[in-house]
Amino acid sequence: MFCRSINEDEKQQILNILPFKVGKLPVRYLGVPLMDKKISIKDCKSLVEKLSKSLMTGKTKVYLMLGEMVVDHVRFKSGNGKKISAWYDRWNENHALAKSIRKREVHLAGFNDQSKLCDVIDANRWKWSAEWFENHSFLKDVPVPTLTDELDCLIWVTNQGKMVNFKTSQVWKDVKRMGVKVYWEKLVWFSQCISRHAFILWLAIKEKLITQDKLIKWYPQKTVSCQLCKKEPYSHGHLFFQCHYAADIWMRVKNRARIRSNASNWKEIIKDMNDYKNHNHIWNILGKLCLAATVYFVWQEKNCRLFNNEIRDKNV
Ligand SMILES: [Zn+2]
Repeated sequence: MFCRSINEDEKQQILNILPFKVGKLPVRYLGVPLMDKKISIKDCKSLVEKLSKSLMTGKTKVYLMLGEMVVDHVRFKSGNGKKISAWYDRWNENHALAKSIRKREVHLAGFNDQSKLCDVIDANRWKWSAEWFENHSFLKDVPVPTLTDELDCLIWVTNQGKMVNFKTSQVWKDVKRMGVKVYWEKLVWFSQCISRHAFILWLAIKEKLITQDKLIKWYPQKTVSCQLCKKEPYSHGHLFFQCHYAADIWMRVKNRARIRSNASNWKEIIKDMNDYKNHNHIWNILGKLCLAATVYFVWQEKNCRLFNNEIRDKNV
Protein backbone atom coordinates (compact mmCIF):
# COMPACT_ATOMS: atom_id res chain seq x y z
CA MET A 1 0.00 0.00 0.00
CA PHE A 2 1.31 3.46 -0.89
CA CYS A 3 0.19 6.56 1.04
CA ARG A 4 0.32 10.21 0.22
CA SER A 5 -1.19 13.34 1.82
CA ILE A 6 -2.54 11.57 4.90
CA ASN A 7 -1.36 11.89 8.48
CA GLU A 8 0.20 9.09 10.52
CA ASP A 9 -3.03 8.38 12.49
CA GLU A 10 -5.12 7.94 9.37
CA LYS A 11 -2.43 5.71 7.91
CA GLN A 12 -2.42 3.48 11.01
CA GLN A 13 -6.23 3.23 10.98
CA ILE A 14 -6.16 2.06 7.35
CA LEU A 15 -3.36 -0.40 8.07
CA ASN A 16 -5.37 -1.88 10.94
CA ILE A 17 -8.18 -2.70 8.52
CA LEU A 18 -6.22 -3.78 5.43
CA PRO A 19 -3.75 -6.68 5.39
CA PHE A 20 -1.11 -4.73 3.41
CA LYS A 21 2.38 -3.46 4.14
CA VAL A 22 3.36 0.14 3.46
CA GLY A 23 5.45 0.49 0.30
CA LYS A 24 7.82 3.22 -0.71
CA LEU A 25 7.61 5.10 -4.01
CA PRO A 26 8.87 5.01 -6.65
CA VAL A 27 8.33 1.40 -7.74
CA ARG A 28 8.48 0.26 -11.35
CA TYR A 29 5.39 -1.16 -13.03
CA LEU A 30 5.67 -2.30 -16.69
CA GLY A 31 9.01 -0.51 -16.80
CA VAL A 32 7.54 2.84 -15.76
CA PRO A 33 8.22 4.31 -12.30
CA LEU A 34 5.08 4.83 -10.19
CA MET A 35 5.69 7.97 -8.19
CA ASP A 36 3.86 10.59 -6.16
CA LYS A 37 4.67 13.40 -8.57
CA LYS A 38 3.77 14.08 -12.19
CA ILE A 39 5.28 11.48 -14.51
CA SER A 40 7.61 12.85 -17.21
CA ILE A 41 8.19 11.83 -20.84
CA LYS A 42 11.61 10.52 -19.82
CA ASP A 43 10.00 8.20 -17.23
CA CYS A 44 7.79 6.65 -19.94
CA LYS A 45 10.60 6.18 -22.46
CA SER A 46 11.30 2.53 -21.61
CA LEU A 47 7.59 1.64 -21.84
CA VAL A 48 7.23 3.36 -25.21
CA GLU A 49 10.32 1.55 -26.53
CA LYS A 50 9.02 -1.82 -25.31
CA LEU A 51 5.59 -1.23 -26.86
CA SER A 52 7.04 -0.05 -30.18
CA LYS A 53 9.21 -3.16 -30.39
CA SER A 54 6.38 -5.56 -29.60
CA LEU A 55 3.95 -3.79 -31.91
CA MET A 56 6.26 -4.23 -34.86
CA THR A 57 7.00 -7.91 -34.34
CA GLY A 58 5.43 -11.18 -35.39
CA LYS A 59 1.73 -11.29 -35.85
CA THR A 60 1.24 -7.52 -35.74
CA LYS A 61 3.43 -7.13 -38.79
CA VAL A 62 1.41 -9.81 -40.59
CA TYR A 63 -1.88 -8.09 -39.70
CA LEU A 64 -0.54 -4.71 -40.83
CA MET A 65 0.67 -6.25 -44.07
CA LEU A 66 -2.69 -7.97 -44.65
CA GLY A 67 -4.45 -4.70 -43.82
CA GLU A 68 -2.43 -2.85 -46.46
CA MET A 69 -3.12 -5.59 -49.02
CA VAL A 70 -6.86 -5.40 -48.39
CA VAL A 71 -6.98 -1.60 -48.34
CA ASP A 72 -5.44 -1.59 -51.83
CA HIS A 73 -8.46 -3.51 -53.11
CA VAL A 74 -11.21 -1.51 -51.46
CA ARG A 75 -12.86 1.44 -53.22
CA PHE A 76 -15.91 3.51 -52.60
CA LYS A 77 -18.56 3.60 -55.29
CA SER A 78 -20.34 6.90 -55.09
CA GLY A 79 -24.10 7.20 -54.85
CA ASN A 80 -25.19 10.45 -53.24
CA GLY A 81 -21.62 11.10 -51.96
CA LYS A 82 -22.82 11.78 -48.42
CA LYS A 83 -20.88 9.01 -46.69
CA ILE A 84 -17.59 9.21 -48.58
CA SER A 85 -14.85 11.40 -47.14
CA ALA A 86 -13.57 13.67 -49.90
CA TRP A 87 -10.01 13.40 -48.52
CA TYR A 88 -9.51 10.13 -46.69
CA ASP A 89 -11.55 7.54 -48.62
CA ARG A 90 -10.44 6.03 -51.88
CA TRP A 91 -13.19 6.75 -54.37
CA ASN A 92 -11.13 7.22 -57.56
CA GLU A 93 -8.51 5.27 -59.50
CA ASN A 94 -5.70 7.12 -57.69
CA HIS A 95 -4.98 7.28 -53.99
CA ALA A 96 -7.02 9.09 -51.32
CA LEU A 97 -6.66 12.85 -51.83
CA ALA A 98 -5.26 13.32 -48.31
CA LYS A 99 -2.03 11.71 -49.55
CA SER A 100 -1.39 14.70 -51.84
CA ILE A 101 -3.45 17.58 -50.53
CA ARG A 102 -2.43 19.00 -47.17
CA LYS A 103 -4.90 19.88 -44.42
CA ARG A 104 -3.87 23.53 -44.67
CA GLU A 105 -4.84 23.69 -48.36
CA VAL A 106 -8.18 22.09 -47.52
CA HIS A 107 -8.95 24.74 -44.90
CA LEU A 108 -7.68 27.64 -47.01
CA ALA A 109 -10.00 26.52 -49.82
CA GLY A 110 -12.98 26.74 -47.45
CA PHE A 111 -13.43 23.00 -46.94
CA ASN A 112 -12.87 21.10 -43.70
CA ASP A 113 -11.60 17.77 -42.49
CA GLN A 114 -15.09 16.27 -42.51
CA SER A 115 -15.99 17.35 -46.07
CA LYS A 116 -17.78 14.62 -47.98
CA LEU A 117 -17.64 13.93 -51.69
CA CYS A 118 -20.96 15.71 -52.20
CA ASP A 119 -19.46 18.86 -50.57
CA VAL A 120 -16.73 19.20 -53.22
CA ILE A 121 -18.96 18.73 -56.27
CA ASP A 122 -21.42 21.26 -57.64
CA ALA A 123 -23.50 20.68 -60.76
CA ASN A 124 -21.17 17.95 -62.02
CA ARG A 125 -18.07 20.11 -61.56
CA TRP A 126 -15.34 20.16 -58.94
CA LYS A 127 -15.52 23.00 -56.47
CA TRP A 128 -11.76 23.27 -56.06
CA SER A 129 -9.80 26.22 -57.37
CA ALA A 130 -7.61 26.62 -60.47
CA GLU A 131 -4.66 26.82 -58.07
CA TRP A 132 -5.31 23.23 -56.93
CA PHE A 133 -5.29 22.03 -60.54
CA GLU A 134 -1.94 23.79 -61.03
CA ASN A 135 -0.38 22.45 -57.84
CA HIS A 136 -1.77 18.92 -58.19
CA SER A 137 -1.75 18.02 -61.86
CA PHE A 138 -3.28 14.55 -61.24
CA LEU A 139 -6.57 16.28 -60.32
CA LYS A 140 -7.15 17.03 -64.02
CA ASP A 141 -7.44 13.30 -64.63
CA VAL A 142 -9.87 12.61 -61.80
CA PRO A 143 -13.32 12.39 -63.36
CA VAL A 144 -16.21 13.99 -61.51
CA PRO A 145 -18.42 11.19 -60.16
CA THR A 146 -22.06 11.46 -61.11
CA LEU A 147 -23.98 11.77 -57.87
CA THR A 148 -27.30 9.95 -57.67
CA ASP A 149 -29.98 9.30 -55.07
CA GLU A 150 -28.47 5.91 -54.24
CA LEU A 151 -26.42 5.26 -51.11
CA ASP A 152 -22.63 5.16 -51.33
CA CYS A 153 -21.17 1.66 -51.09
CA LEU A 154 -17.89 -0.21 -50.81
CA ILE A 155 -16.72 -2.36 -53.68
CA TRP A 156 -13.83 -4.76 -54.19
CA VAL A 157 -11.29 -4.34 -57.01
CA THR A 158 -9.95 -7.70 -58.17
CA ASN A 159 -6.33 -8.34 -59.16
CA GLN A 160 -7.49 -7.86 -62.74
CA GLY A 161 -8.86 -4.40 -61.91
CA LYS A 162 -12.49 -5.49 -62.16
CA MET A 163 -14.91 -3.85 -59.71
CA VAL A 164 -17.13 -6.44 -58.06
CA ASN A 165 -19.38 -6.70 -55.04
CA PHE A 166 -17.59 -7.61 -51.82
CA LYS A 167 -17.37 -11.40 -51.36
CA THR A 168 -15.03 -13.21 -48.94
CA SER A 169 -14.30 -15.85 -51.61
CA GLN A 170 -13.05 -13.14 -53.99
CA VAL A 171 -10.99 -11.50 -51.23
CA TRP A 172 -9.24 -14.80 -50.50
CA LYS A 173 -8.64 -15.40 -54.21
CA ASP A 174 -6.98 -12.01 -54.65
CA VAL A 175 -5.03 -11.89 -51.40
CA LYS A 176 -3.61 -15.43 -51.53
CA ARG A 177 -2.13 -14.78 -54.97
CA MET A 178 0.05 -12.11 -53.48
CA GLY A 179 2.17 -14.70 -51.68
CA VAL A 180 5.47 -15.67 -53.23
CA LYS A 181 5.32 -19.04 -54.91
CA VAL A 182 8.05 -21.30 -53.59
CA TYR A 183 9.91 -23.69 -55.86
CA TRP A 184 9.55 -26.66 -53.47
CA GLU A 185 5.73 -26.47 -53.12
CA LYS A 186 5.08 -29.77 -54.95
CA LEU A 187 7.88 -31.52 -53.10
CA VAL A 188 5.96 -31.01 -49.84
CA TRP A 189 2.31 -30.94 -50.84
CA PHE A 190 1.05 -33.57 -53.29
CA SER A 191 -2.01 -35.82 -53.37
CA GLN A 192 -0.29 -38.84 -51.81
CA CYS A 193 1.54 -36.91 -49.07
CA ILE A 194 1.04 -37.80 -45.41
CA SER A 195 -0.10 -34.54 -43.92
CA ARG A 196 1.68 -34.72 -40.55
CA HIS A 197 4.96 -35.59 -42.32
CA ALA A 198 4.41 -32.86 -44.91
CA PHE A 199 3.73 -30.31 -42.19
CA ILE A 200 7.04 -30.98 -40.39
CA LEU A 201 8.89 -31.03 -43.73
CA TRP A 202 7.30 -27.69 -44.61
CA LEU A 203 8.47 -26.18 -41.30
CA ALA A 204 11.92 -27.71 -41.75
CA ILE A 205 12.33 -26.26 -45.26
CA LYS A 206 11.27 -22.86 -43.98
CA GLU A 207 13.62 -23.40 -41.01
CA LYS A 208 10.78 -22.63 -38.62
CA LEU A 209 11.17 -25.57 -36.24
CA ILE A 210 12.25 -24.49 -32.78
CA THR A 211 15.86 -25.57 -32.81
CA GLN A 212 18.70 -25.00 -30.38
CA ASP A 213 20.36 -22.27 -32.46
CA LYS A 214 17.14 -20.21 -32.05
CA LEU A 215 16.72 -20.99 -28.35
CA ILE A 216 20.28 -19.81 -27.65
CA LYS A 217 19.25 -16.29 -28.67
CA TRP A 218 16.57 -16.31 -25.94
CA TYR A 219 18.42 -18.36 -23.30
CA PRO A 220 22.15 -17.83 -23.94
CA GLN A 221 23.13 -19.66 -20.72
CA LYS A 222 21.27 -22.85 -21.61
CA THR A 223 23.14 -24.92 -24.14
CA VAL A 224 21.74 -28.36 -24.75
CA SER A 225 23.55 -30.60 -27.18
CA CYS A 226 21.70 -32.54 -29.84
CA GLN A 227 19.80 -35.39 -28.17
CA LEU A 228 20.60 -37.70 -31.08
CA CYS A 229 24.41 -37.47 -31.16
CA LYS A 230 25.13 -35.58 -27.90
CA LYS A 231 27.78 -33.60 -29.72
CA GLU A 232 26.68 -30.07 -30.58
CA PRO A 233 23.64 -27.76 -30.30
CA TYR A 234 21.15 -28.71 -32.98
CA SER A 235 20.10 -26.50 -35.85
CA HIS A 236 18.11 -27.33 -39.00
CA GLY A 237 21.39 -27.98 -40.81
CA HIS A 238 22.56 -30.30 -38.06
CA LEU A 239 19.38 -32.35 -37.76
CA PHE A 240 18.84 -32.62 -41.55
CA PHE A 241 21.25 -34.44 -41.90
CA GLN A 242 24.67 -33.40 -40.61
CA CYS A 243 24.09 -35.20 -37.31
CA HIS A 244 25.63 -38.67 -37.72
CA TYR A 245 22.52 -40.34 -36.24
CA ALA A 246 20.24 -38.57 -38.75
CA ALA A 247 22.75 -38.90 -41.61
CA ASP A 248 22.87 -42.65 -41.14
CA ILE A 249 19.08 -42.92 -41.33
CA TRP A 250 18.95 -40.68 -44.40
CA MET A 251 21.66 -42.75 -46.10
CA ARG A 252 19.75 -46.01 -45.52
CA VAL A 253 16.46 -44.46 -46.67
CA LYS A 254 18.15 -43.08 -49.80
CA ASN A 255 19.52 -46.48 -50.74
CA ARG A 256 16.22 -48.25 -50.26
CA ALA A 257 14.18 -45.57 -52.00
CA ARG A 258 16.70 -45.19 -54.88
CA ILE A 259 17.23 -41.49 -54.14
CA ARG A 260 20.20 -40.22 -56.13
CA SER A 261 21.08 -37.07 -54.15
CA ASN A 262 24.61 -36.95 -52.73
CA ALA A 263 24.13 -33.54 -51.10
CA SER A 264 24.90 -33.29 -47.41
CA ASN A 265 23.70 -29.70 -46.90
CA TRP A 266 19.98 -29.26 -46.08
CA LYS A 267 19.34 -26.59 -48.72
CA GLU A 268 21.17 -28.67 -51.35
CA ILE A 269 19.16 -31.76 -50.40
CA ILE A 270 15.92 -29.83 -50.97
CA LYS A 271 17.19 -28.63 -54.35
CA ASP A 272 18.15 -32.18 -55.37
CA MET A 273 14.87 -33.63 -54.12
CA ASN A 274 12.95 -30.95 -55.94
CA ASP A 275 13.73 -32.77 -59.21
CA TYR A 276 11.25 -35.40 -58.00
CA LYS A 277 8.39 -32.98 -57.68
CA ASN A 278 6.71 -33.06 -61.07
CA HIS A 279 6.86 -36.72 -61.99
CA ASN A 280 4.20 -39.17 -60.98
CA HIS A 281 6.48 -42.16 -61.32
CA ILE A 282 6.19 -44.50 -58.33
CA TRP A 283 9.86 -43.99 -57.34
CA ASN A 284 9.48 -40.23 -57.43
CA ILE A 285 6.45 -40.34 -55.17
CA LEU A 286 8.25 -42.80 -52.91
CA GLY A 287 11.31 -40.51 -52.79
CA LYS A 288 9.19 -37.54 -51.72
CA LEU A 289 7.33 -39.63 -49.12
CA CYS A 290 10.63 -40.93 -47.76
CA LEU A 291 12.15 -37.47 -47.40
CA ALA A 292 9.13 -36.22 -45.44
CA ALA A 293 8.99 -39.37 -43.32
CA THR A 294 12.72 -39.17 -42.48
CA VAL A 295 12.50 -35.52 -41.47
CA TYR A 296 9.41 -36.33 -39.40
CA PHE A 297 11.06 -39.32 -37.72
CA VAL A 298 14.28 -37.43 -36.89
CA TRP A 299 12.32 -34.50 -35.44
CA GLN A 300 10.01 -36.82 -33.49
CA GLU A 301 12.95 -38.84 -32.14
CA LYS A 302 14.69 -35.66 -30.99
CA ASN A 303 11.49 -34.60 -29.18
CA CYS A 304 10.93 -38.04 -27.61
CA ARG A 305 14.45 -38.00 -26.18
CA LEU A 306 14.19 -34.40 -25.01
CA PHE A 307 10.73 -34.45 -23.46
CA ASN A 308 9.96 -38.12 -22.65
CA ASN A 309 13.43 -39.57 -22.17
CA GLU A 310 12.50 -42.30 -24.65
CA ILE A 311 15.18 -43.60 -27.00
CA ARG A 312 14.37 -45.61 -30.10
CA ASP A 313 16.99 -47.51 -32.00
CA LYS A 314 17.66 -46.03 -35.43
CA ASN A 315 17.51 -49.54 -36.93
CA VAL A 316 13.79 -49.61 -36.10
ZN1 LIG B 1 23.20 -34.58 -33.59
